[in-house]
Order: sequence, then structure tokens, then C-alpha cells
Amino acid sequence: MAIRKIVVQGDSILNKRCRPVTDFNRRLHILLDDMKDTLAEAQGAGLAAPQVGILRRAVIVLDDNEEFLELINPEIILQEGEQEGAEGCLSVPGKWGMVTRPYRVKVRAQDRRGNWFEADREGVTARCFCHEIEHLDGHLYVEHIDRFLTDEEVEAYFAEQENAQGEEA
Ligand code: ZN
Repeated sequence: MAIRKIVVQGDSILNKRCRPVTDFNRRLHILLDDMKDTLAEAQGAGLAAPQVGILRRAVIVLDDNEEFLELINPEIILQEGEQEGAEGCLSVPGKWGMVTRPYRVKVRAQDRRGNWFEADREGVTARCFCHEIEHLDGHLYVEHIDRFLTDEEVEAYFAEQENAQGEEA
């Protein structure tokens, strides 16, 4: 396993549409393991393959039980409700913005062996699903915001959160 370099905003790779994963082979498993290492090292909540320069539909999400979810070829099949919250991105380091997302999101995806499964989550993990899946279509959360939060606003926002920990996706 290895830490990969995270691509930052301005690199056109982040604006490209990713191709589906078709081979559930060793190469994919190495990519997923490296993405987990990279995400853990960066202390983020989620990472999409294009963020490490790979234009394939694969994302890793660290859920609220601190477990890694591997979502290959993910599709949102249900979304419900609404939540507004601060969002960050490992490809837009050090910045945050308020984004409205559905409160509950159900995703259909394949695991690393190609088996289909569903993941149904609320709150921060649901937000993360939306954020990461957008990456696969070449979109960043910054498209949803009017402006970045100031340092004071970021501080106040996370002080208000029950678990006052910032996580960038
Ligand atoms: Zn991101």
C-alpha cells in the first residue's frame, strides 16, 4: 500500500467524467488500498479516484462508524430531505463552504469483487456520498457555493458541531 499524490483544483483531471470500472482485479484492489492509505494520511472523510489521478468510477468514504466504504460504479438511487452544512475537499485544501445536500441518500454500488450492494445513510455520510459521486462526473462542491467561509466562520461552525472535528472530503 502507498500514499498517492492528491490532485488539487486547477488540474483539468478533476473536471473530467470518469469511466466505469470493468475489471475487478488486483490493479483495482491496489488502487482502493492506496486510496484508503491516502485518505487516512490526509485525515479526510472521502476520496474519489480522480483525486489521485485515476479516471475511474471508484470512491472511498469513511462513514460515521469510522469504517471505510468502497463504492465502485456508485449510483444514487434515493435521496430524501435536506441538510445544510460546511463542506471541504482534499483537492481544495484549507477551504470550506456551506452546501445544501439531501439528508438521506441511498447508493447502489459494487464492491471490490464486483458484487452489487446498497448503502443507505443519513447526515454527514449522506453528504459525503453526494460529494464523492460528483467528483466522478467532474464536479467539485465549490460549484454549489457563493463564497468560501472565513476562518472565523469555519471556527464558529465547527465549535457548534457536537463532534467539533473538521473533515475534508
Ligand atoms: Zn472532494
